[in-house]
Amino acid sequence: MEQLLPLAIDGVELAKPIIISGPCSAETEEQVLRTAQGLARAGIKIFRAGIWKPRTKPGGFEGVGVPGLAWMRKVREQTGMKVATEVANRSHVESALEYDVDLLWIGARTSANPFAMQEIADCLKESGKDIPVLVKNPVNPDLELWIGAMQRLYNAGVRRLGAIHRGFSTYNPGIYRNDPHWRLPLELRRRYPDLPIICDPSHITGKRELIASLSQQALDMGFDGLIIESHCDPDCAWSDKNQQITPEVLNVIVDNLVFRDAPTIPAESLTHMRRRIDELDNELIEVLAKRMKVSKEIGQYKLEHNMPVVQAARYGDIMSNRVLAAASQGINEEFMRHILSTIHEESVRIQVELSENSEKKSKKKSEEK
Ligand code: PEP
Ligand code: MN
Repeated sequence: MEQLLPLAIDGVELAKPIIISGPCSAETEEQVLRTAQGLARAGIKIFRAGIWKPRTKPGGFEGVGVPGLAWMRKVREQTGMKVATEVANRSHVESALEYDVDLLWIGARTSANPFAMQEIADCLKESGKDIPVLVKNPVNPDLELWIGAMQRLYNAGVRRLGAIHRGFSTYNPGIYRNDPHWRLPLELRRRYPDLPIICDPSHITGKRELIASLSQQALDMGFDGLIIESHCDPDCAWSDKNQQITPEVLNVIVDNLVFRDAPTIPAESLTHMRRRIDELDNELIEVLAKRMKVSKEIGQYKLEHNMPVVQAARYGDIMSNRVLAAASQGINEEFMRHILSTIHEESVRIQVELSENSEKKSKKKSEEK
């Protein structure tokens, strides 16, 4: 994806931060138009609404389908806003293009499906339309699958591509509905610096009270925009009602957001601090290398004394002592636990490798005999 073009509609580049808002689902013409009018008053330029809804189980509201596209057309005419919807197969793309939808997005269940992605890519190629497409991360935290979905579109000639980070499904939700796993979108940014990445705080948090803070967090991390669900009467929404907000609330949230878009030449003091970070990272690497070396020696000892690689009690002690020590220095406990378990995993891998190699050697020896 070397030759991406900026996200643009009708030849006009989208200003950053890109803010897209509208209901999870188009329900009725009145709900769509009322919400859109409120959003237009709030200065929103791109209206979203789900026309086809991928529901987890059958029997739920599966979207109004093609009639909803005519309501979207009315939104364009009455408010001047551009309109966006989700497509999941060839017939969705064909209908959306027929009704002049301005921007398409691919949902999380679809980006996880290479067959569907290829079908959509082929259909867009055949249409020859220059339409921006945003690809949500797949439901599972698989960066390659996310990138693969975008590459299928890119290979089909879609150059106005963007990504949407909507968090990842989890069996054990914490405060958020979806786990943000920020590492994934940040790695995506590192690999494709020109790819715009938009955050979806509605689907990440699943709760309207948490949208403002998560939106600011995303902007602080350098996201290029936000897609936020809004509804003229959120409590009565037919889908995702806990995470929808009124256009008036959206207006307040957006007004209070700070978009830091100053990639200026770093000041002297910042350069200095960065140099300090570089030094500290090098020290960390040295310490880790030393630790792994000792781990290997311990592995050798265990091997010679026929001891198992993992000793649960020892691991438990390490965890609790280190986490306490780290907390006393102001380091977040969860973060420390995460680091320690990663280091421990690597030590175990090294020690297991050692015993595998020694088994192979002794097998070879006995075969030679
Ligand atoms: C949506 O945007 O309403 C939607 C269905 O989102 P996701 O694909 O992220 O679940
Ligand atoms: Mn939704």
